[in-house]
Amino acid sequence: MIKINENYQKLQASYLFSNIAKRVNAFQQSNTDKKLIKLGIGDVTRALPEACVKAFHAAVDEMASDSTFRGYGPEQGYDFLREAIAKHDFQARGAHVEADEVFVSDGAKCDSGNFQEIFSTDITVAIPDPVYPVYVDTNVMAGRTGKWNAERGRYDGFVYLDGNRENGFIPNLPDQPVDLIYLCFPNNPAGSTATKEQLKAWVDYAKANKALILFDAAYEAFVQDENLPRSIYEIEGAREVAVEFRSFSKTAGFTGTRCAYTVVPKECMAYTEAGEAVSVHTLWNRRHTTKFNSVSYPVQRAAEAVYSDEGQAQIKELIAYYLNNAKYIREKMEALGYECIGGENSPYIWIDSKRDSWEFFDHLLNSAAVVCTPGAGFGKCGEGYIRISAFNSFENVQEAMERISNVL
Ligand SMILES: *Cc1c(COP(=O)(O)O)cnc(C)c1O
Repeated sequence: MIKINENYQKLQASYLFSNIAKRVNAFQQSNTDKKLIKLGIGDVTRALPEACVKAFHAAVDEMASDSTFRGYGPEQGYDFLREAIAKHDFQARGAHVEADEVFVSDGAKCDSGNFQEIFSTDITVAIPDPVYPVYVDTNVMAGRTGKWNAERGRYDGFVYLDGNRENGFIPNLPDQPVDLIYLCFPNNPAGSTATKEQLKAWVDYAKANKALILFDAAYEAFVQDENLPRSIYEIEGAREVAVEFRSFSKTAGFTGTRCAYTVVPKECMAYTEAGEAVSVHTLWNRRHTTKFNSVSYPVQRAAEAVYSDEGQAQIKELIAYYLNNAKYIREKMEALGYECIGGENSPYIWIDSKRDSWEFFDHLLNSAAVVCTPGAGFGKCGEGYIRISAFNSFENVQEAMERISNVL
């Protein structure tokens, strides 16, 4: 008899975005004439930068001729891309990352979901709340938790790091020992950004406890404040205790093109049952080369073009466009009397909805035909908040905010 992985039975049935989709579909069926404005799911809306498209086309042409055709590339990614990443994203900012510490992949979702595989199932995992659901569900699937505890509204077995008004959605250090820590800054969903001092406290904690930080920096390109860190490797000591996930998805509009990378410094260690140190880089390299055959050549060329002068200017414009939307949304919501976090160094505005977050979601959907994301879908601490995303055209954002202003 073929048996299932029982851990899948623990997973919460209604996944956030499918629940939203259900409500949106129901609304559309009874309001076929109304134009819906989606400021919900975190997907970009603007075209790939011109420099990327050009490089993409040229690489496709190379594939069309026997003399320039490429088959399987290195599993970790081509050197041209790994070198450009190390140089521009880290070394240029004074962070020490070498090209062979960069693992190119088809997404930060898969990487942040897969990385836990190389660790024991009996470690203690610290999960921020609210959170990008991938970190939670992949650890549940792997069996690192108990059951869903309906009374607590949480899984047993995780150590939750609460985000709230008091800490500005920058979680405090845990009050019990943890081994694996997920952090995401600029934060999805809360739009919060951590200072160097705040990240330093986490790095010091990880060093003192032989823990490892999985740092999701998918939104680093949105950081405008020069004092804020874009990478955890700007923090002293982070190379020993932190892995960083990055993606071209939000930076350069690659959500449908697929290219991302994970940085695993050679100093990072994890430990055997007997307490011997093992290189995390070696473990991840083994896992990555066994299960992954890298990203297509044209896509890697398109990603490389992000680092050309032309590409840099174009992504700067792209990010500025979304941040202008974010600023507009934040100003309008604040003018309506709602407290906001984010939107300055992040494409997300996290709004205190002053009522149940699904109720607020339904109100905006049914009376303004605007889709946002209810905070409760990202965890218990998200209750009472909603997330509005800046990923849309400025015209749609303006219209959405006008409609919202009329119904709040
Ligand atoms: C969008 C996003 C990613 C990027 O995912 P890809 O698979 O690279 O498209 C990663 N982490 C967070 C928190 C995100 O919101």
